[in-house]
Amino acid sequence: MSRQMIVGNWKMNGLRESSRELVAALLAGMPKTGPDVVICPPFTQLALLADSLASTSVGLGAQDCHQDPSGAHTGDISAPMLKELGVSHVILGHSERRQEHGELDETVREKAVAAAKAGLTPIVCVGETNDQRENGDYTDTLGWQIKGSLPDGFCGIVAYEPIWAIGTGLAATEAQIAETMTFLRQELVRQFGEAGKAIKILYGGSVNADNAVAILSIPEVAGALVGGASLKADAFLSIVGAAS
Ligand code: PEP
Repeated sequence: MSRQMIVGNWKMNGLRESSRELVAALLAGMPKTGPDVVICPPFTQLALLADSLASTSVGLGAQDCHQDPSGAHTGDISAPMLKELGVSHVILGHSERRQEHGELDETVREKAVAAAKAGLTPIVCVGETNDQRENGDYTDTLGWQIKGSLPDGFCGIVAYEPIWAIGTGLAATEAQIAETMTFLRQELVRQFGEAGKAIKILYGGSVNADNAVAILSIPEVAGALVGGASLKADAFLSIVGAAS
Protein backbone atom coordinates (compact mmCIF):
# COMPACT_ATOMS: atom_id res chain seq x y z
CA MET A 1 0.00 0.00 0.00
CA SER A 2 1.33 3.46 -0.81
CA ARG A 3 1.95 6.00 1.90
CA GLN A 4 -0.99 7.94 3.23
CA MET A 5 -1.04 11.73 2.97
CA ILE A 6 -1.93 14.26 5.64
CA VAL A 7 -2.65 17.76 4.37
CA GLY A 8 -2.98 20.69 6.78
CA ASN A 9 -5.22 23.51 5.56
CA TRP A 10 -4.53 26.58 7.67
CA LYS A 11 -7.26 28.52 5.84
CA MET A 12 -7.12 32.29 6.60
CA ASN A 13 -5.05 31.91 9.75
CA GLY A 14 -1.51 32.85 10.63
CA LEU A 15 0.52 36.03 10.90
CA ARG A 16 4.30 35.78 10.55
CA GLU A 17 5.20 35.05 14.17
CA SER A 18 2.46 32.50 14.86
CA SER A 19 3.19 30.77 11.53
CA ARG A 20 6.89 30.59 12.36
CA GLU A 21 6.12 29.09 15.77
CA LEU A 22 3.63 26.57 14.42
CA VAL A 23 5.88 25.33 11.66
CA ALA A 24 8.83 25.05 14.08
CA ALA A 25 6.71 22.96 16.49
CA LEU A 26 5.52 20.77 13.63
CA LEU A 27 9.01 20.17 12.32
CA ALA A 28 10.33 19.41 15.80
CA GLY A 29 7.75 16.65 16.25
CA MET A 30 7.55 15.28 12.72
CA PRO A 31 8.36 11.55 12.59
CA LYS A 32 11.35 10.51 10.46
CA THR A 33 9.24 8.01 8.55
CA GLY A 34 5.50 8.08 8.06
CA PRO A 35 2.93 9.55 5.74
CA ASP A 36 3.48 12.30 3.20
CA VAL A 37 2.72 15.61 4.88
CA VAL A 38 1.76 18.84 3.11
CA ILE A 39 1.07 22.16 4.82
CA CYS A 40 -1.11 24.76 3.11
CA PRO A 41 -0.76 28.18 4.77
CA PRO A 42 -2.40 31.33 3.44
CA PHE A 43 -0.66 32.92 0.42
CA THR A 44 1.03 35.50 2.65
CA GLN A 45 2.99 32.84 4.58
CA LEU A 46 4.03 30.70 1.61
CA ALA A 47 7.45 32.33 1.27
CA LEU A 48 8.13 31.94 5.00
CA LEU A 49 7.18 28.28 4.93
CA ALA A 50 9.08 27.69 1.70
CA ASP A 51 12.21 28.65 3.63
CA SER A 52 11.35 26.65 6.76
CA LEU A 53 10.38 23.51 4.85
CA ALA A 54 13.11 23.71 2.20
CA SER A 55 15.36 20.94 3.51
CA THR A 56 12.61 18.80 5.03
CA SER A 57 10.30 16.12 3.65
CA VAL A 58 7.21 18.23 4.39
CA GLY A 59 5.55 19.58 1.27
CA LEU A 60 4.16 23.06 0.75
CA GLY A 61 0.67 23.60 -0.60
CA ALA A 62 -1.52 26.55 -1.51
CA GLN A 63 -5.26 26.88 -0.95
CA ASP A 64 -6.26 28.05 -4.43
CA CYS A 65 -4.88 29.29 -7.74
CA HIS A 66 -6.26 31.12 -10.76
CA GLN A 67 -6.91 29.23 -13.97
CA ASP A 68 -4.83 31.62 -16.11
CA PRO A 69 -1.05 31.81 -15.90
CA SER A 70 -1.07 35.63 -15.77
CA GLY A 71 -3.26 38.57 -16.71
CA ALA A 72 -5.77 41.12 -15.50
CA HIS A 73 -7.11 39.28 -12.45
CA THR A 74 -6.78 41.62 -9.51
CA GLY A 75 -6.13 39.84 -6.26
CA ASP A 76 -5.54 36.43 -7.81
CA ILE A 77 -2.46 34.20 -7.78
CA SER A 78 -1.50 31.92 -10.66
CA ALA A 79 -0.16 28.38 -10.60
CA PRO A 80 3.25 29.35 -12.08
CA MET A 81 3.60 31.98 -9.32
CA LEU A 82 3.03 29.27 -6.73
CA LYS A 83 5.45 26.93 -8.43
CA GLU A 84 8.12 29.61 -8.39
CA LEU A 85 7.69 29.92 -4.61
CA GLY A 86 8.36 26.22 -4.10
CA VAL A 87 4.75 25.08 -3.80
CA SER A 88 4.08 21.44 -4.75
CA HIS A 89 0.33 21.03 -4.13
CA VAL A 90 -2.75 23.20 -4.41
CA ILE A 91 -6.20 22.69 -2.87
CA LEU A 92 -8.92 23.45 -5.41
CA GLY A 93 -12.69 23.65 -5.15
CA HIS A 94 -12.80 23.69 -1.34
CA SER A 95 -16.43 24.09 -0.28
CA GLU A 96 -15.59 27.45 1.30
CA ARG A 97 -14.45 28.68 -2.11
CA ARG A 98 -17.41 27.12 -3.86
CA GLN A 99 -19.77 28.81 -1.36
CA GLU A 100 -18.04 32.13 -0.69
CA HIS A 101 -16.62 32.76 -4.17
CA GLY A 102 -19.22 31.04 -6.30
CA GLU A 103 -16.72 28.60 -7.78
CA LEU A 104 -18.32 26.17 -10.16
CA ASP A 105 -17.15 22.71 -11.17
CA GLU A 106 -16.06 24.13 -14.53
CA THR A 107 -13.78 26.70 -12.90
CA VAL A 108 -12.33 24.08 -10.58
CA ARG A 109 -11.62 21.92 -13.63
CA GLU A 110 -9.83 24.78 -15.39
CA LYS A 111 -7.80 25.45 -12.26
CA ALA A 112 -6.83 21.77 -12.06
CA VAL A 113 -5.59 21.95 -15.66
CA ALA A 114 -3.60 25.11 -14.89
CA ALA A 115 -2.12 23.60 -11.74
CA ALA A 116 -0.97 20.44 -13.50
CA LYS A 117 0.48 22.48 -16.37
CA ALA A 118 2.57 24.43 -13.87
CA GLY A 119 3.80 21.19 -12.26
CA LEU A 120 1.60 21.34 -9.16
CA THR A 121 -0.47 18.45 -7.81
CA PRO A 122 -4.12 19.50 -7.52
CA ILE A 123 -6.13 18.35 -4.50
CA VAL A 124 -9.71 18.69 -5.70
CA CYS A 125 -12.41 18.83 -3.03
CA VAL A 126 -15.91 17.43 -3.40
CA GLY A 127 -18.64 17.14 -0.81
CA GLU A 128 -22.36 17.28 -0.22
CA THR A 129 -24.48 19.52 2.00
CA ASN A 130 -26.42 18.24 4.97
CA ASP A 131 -29.69 18.51 3.03
CA GLN A 132 -28.29 16.49 0.15
CA ARG A 133 -27.12 13.78 2.53
CA GLU A 134 -30.47 13.68 4.36
CA ASN A 135 -32.48 13.65 1.12
CA GLY A 136 -30.42 10.71 -0.01
CA ASP A 137 -29.38 12.43 -3.25
CA TYR A 138 -25.83 13.17 -2.18
CA THR A 139 -24.42 10.68 -4.64
CA ASP A 140 -25.88 12.77 -7.48
CA THR A 141 -24.03 15.81 -6.17
CA LEU A 142 -20.77 13.94 -5.72
CA GLY A 143 -21.10 12.30 -9.11
CA TRP A 144 -21.61 15.66 -10.83
CA GLN A 145 -18.74 17.22 -8.91
CA ILE A 146 -16.37 14.41 -9.91
CA LYS A 147 -17.52 14.60 -13.52
CA GLY A 148 -17.38 18.37 -13.69
CA SER A 149 -14.34 19.24 -11.59
CA LEU A 150 -11.77 16.71 -12.77
CA PRO A 151 -10.23 17.27 -16.20
CA ASP A 152 -9.35 14.55 -18.70
CA GLY A 153 -6.12 12.84 -17.73
CA PHE A 154 -6.45 14.06 -14.12
CA CYS A 155 -3.28 13.26 -12.22
CA GLY A 156 -4.10 14.62 -8.80
CA ILE A 157 -5.79 13.83 -5.53
CA VAL A 158 -9.47 13.97 -4.58
CA ALA A 159 -10.58 15.07 -1.11
CA TYR A 160 -14.03 13.97 0.03
CA GLU A 161 -15.18 16.65 2.44
CA PRO A 162 -18.85 16.51 3.44
CA ILE A 163 -19.74 20.17 3.99
CA TRP A 164 -21.70 19.37 7.14
CA ALA A 165 -18.58 17.85 8.68
CA ILE A 166 -16.24 20.76 8.01
CA GLY A 167 -15.41 22.74 11.13
CA THR A 168 -18.41 21.33 13.00
CA GLY A 169 -16.68 18.75 15.18
CA LEU A 170 -19.06 16.23 13.64
CA ALA A 171 -17.00 13.95 11.42
CA ALA A 172 -18.79 11.55 9.10
CA THR A 173 -19.19 8.09 10.59
CA GLU A 174 -16.88 5.30 9.54
CA ALA A 175 -19.77 3.65 7.70
CA GLN A 176 -20.62 6.86 5.85
CA ILE A 177 -17.00 7.41 4.87
CA ALA A 178 -16.53 3.81 3.73
CA GLU A 179 -19.72 3.83 1.65
CA THR A 180 -18.94 7.18 0.06
CA MET A 181 -15.36 6.21 -0.72
CA THR A 182 -16.64 3.14 -2.57
CA PHE A 183 -19.04 5.31 -4.54
CA LEU A 184 -16.31 7.85 -5.40
CA ARG A 185 -13.97 5.08 -6.53
CA GLN A 186 -16.68 3.74 -8.86
CA GLU A 187 -17.16 7.21 -10.32
CA LEU A 188 -13.42 7.68 -10.80
CA VAL A 189 -13.14 4.34 -12.59
CA ARG A 190 -16.18 5.16 -14.70
CA GLN A 191 -14.55 8.44 -15.75
CA PHE A 192 -10.90 7.47 -16.04
CA GLY A 193 -10.91 3.69 -16.48
CA GLU A 194 -7.91 1.88 -15.02
CA ALA A 195 -6.23 5.19 -14.11
CA GLY A 196 -9.17 5.97 -11.83
CA LYS A 197 -8.10 3.15 -9.52
CA ALA A 198 -4.86 4.95 -8.67
CA ILE A 199 -6.30 8.34 -7.76
CA LYS A 200 -5.89 8.92 -4.01
CA ILE A 201 -9.01 9.90 -2.09
CA LEU A 202 -8.52 11.80 1.17
CA TYR A 203 -11.21 12.34 3.79
CA GLY A 204 -11.72 15.76 5.34
CA GLY A 205 -14.19 17.05 7.92
CA SER A 206 -13.47 17.37 11.64
CA VAL A 207 -10.55 14.96 11.66
CA ASN A 208 -8.85 15.27 15.03
CA ALA A 209 -6.41 13.50 17.33
CA ASP A 210 -9.19 11.30 18.72
CA ASN A 211 -10.82 10.04 15.53
CA ALA A 212 -7.78 9.93 13.23
CA VAL A 213 -6.85 6.28 13.84
CA ALA A 214 -10.37 5.07 13.07
CA ILE A 215 -10.78 7.25 9.98
CA LEU A 216 -7.36 6.51 8.56
CA SER A 217 -7.95 2.77 8.98
CA ILE A 218 -10.93 2.76 6.63
CA PRO A 219 -10.07 1.01 3.37
CA GLU A 220 -9.79 3.49 0.48
CA VAL A 221 -8.97 6.40 2.79
CA ALA A 222 -5.60 7.50 1.43
CA GLY A 223 -5.16 10.20 4.01
CA ALA A 224 -6.79 13.26 5.50
CA LEU A 225 -7.33 16.92 4.74
CA VAL A 226 -7.26 18.64 8.11
CA GLY A 227 -8.51 22.15 8.85
CA GLY A 228 -8.92 23.23 12.48
CA ALA A 229 -6.66 20.56 13.96
CA SER A 230 -3.82 21.57 11.63
CA LEU A 231 -3.48 24.81 13.61
CA LYS A 232 -2.46 22.97 16.77
CA ALA A 233 0.91 21.26 16.56
CA ASP A 234 0.04 18.49 19.03
CA ALA A 235 -3.22 17.61 17.33
CA PHE A 236 -1.75 17.69 13.85
CA LEU A 237 1.23 15.57 14.89
CA SER A 238 -1.13 13.01 16.46
CA ILE A 239 -3.00 12.78 13.17
CA VAL A 240 0.30 12.39 11.30
CA GLY A 241 1.25 9.68 13.81
CA ALA A 242 -2.03 7.85 13.18
CA ALA A 243 -1.34 7.61 9.45
CA SER A 244 0.75 4.98 7.72
C1 PEP B 1 -11.23 21.70 5.76
O1 PEP B 1 -11.55 22.88 5.82
O2 PEP B 1 -10.73 21.26 4.73
C2 PEP B 1 -11.49 20.87 6.92
C3 PEP B 1 -11.49 19.60 6.77
O3 PEP B 1 -11.74 21.54 8.12
P1 PEP B 1 -11.92 20.85 9.56
O4 PEP B 1 -10.85 19.81 9.70
O5 PEP B 1 -11.76 21.99 10.51
O6 PEP B 1 -13.28 20.26 9.58
